[in-house]
Amino acid sequence: MSSLPEVRVSSRFIQHWPKGTSHFRAPPVLGLLIGGCALFGLAIGSFLNVVIYRVPRHKSIVTPRSACPTCGSPIRERDNIPVLSWLVLRGRCHSCHSPISARYPLVELGTAGLFAATAARIGFNWDLPAFLVVAASLLALACIDLELLVLPKAIVYPALALVAGFLLLAAAVTGEWHNLISGAIFAVGWFLVFFALNALSPRYLGFGDVRLALVLGLALGWLGWKFVVLGFFSANLIGAIVGLVLIGTKRMRPDQQIAYGVFLALGTMFAVLVGPVIVTHFHTN
Ligand SMILES: [Zn+2]
Repeated sequence: MSSLPEVRVSSRFIQHWPKGTSHFRAPPVLGLLIGGCALFGLAIGSFLNVVIYRVPRHKSIVTPRSACPTCGSPIRERDNIPVLSWLVLRGRCHSCHSPISARYPLVELGTAGLFAATAARIGFNWDLPAFLVVAASLLALACIDLELLVLPKAIVYPALALVAGFLLLAAAVTGEWHNLISGAIFAVGWFLVFFALNALSPRYLGFGDVRLALVLGLALGWLGWKFVVLGFFSANLIGAIVGLVLIGTKRMRPDQQIAYGVFLALGTMFAVLVGPVIVTHFHTN
């Protein structure tokens, strides 16, 4: 990793910094932002665990309170601390001692890591909330798609509304309307391409992916067309490599459905987080 994203972060960061403030004060504040987002990510990850389990099963995410899937005893407040509780209880239920999946702490740690990386990449900017929503919703959708091969619209549509709302706010405050227009164009463009592919072959590209394209196009389009191209191609490259490896090792049949949403999520987050290094590299060469 080069220092390129940092350069972009600091220059945009300083732009909105009160006049007369020393630039040397920026890094500690950025560190606080990254740490704060990591802690926030732990809490959001805990919520995503509920979303990942309940939404595709059409259960309420509010009630009832979380309970052990084996014995049904409610999770106590003190056993609901992200990651720590799982470690303290050594991955077992406090009352029946049946094992609790490592997926729970992993989703919490994953969200914290993604939030920290997104904060480091975007910095102290108005579009940060939108990209935290992108990271959180893609993590939840990837987990669900991997397990059940669906991308619930009960997650995709609220994510789209939140990302659009936060980017609208960012555009209104910073005057970066061209970013929002670019996002809207790529949201519609990507949606139409996937809509056509779905019409041609609904078996290989589900309508969940078509809906998700709206979120991906909006977020990556906001950053610029190069990020859209990078996100789309890395998603398909990762998907093709993984697919070929799984078929080659006979862990998947060639006609079997692939969790394409997982690769769309991976490609998009790759473009958001690592994109500036690659895009700037192409620009200067
Ligand atoms: Zn139990």
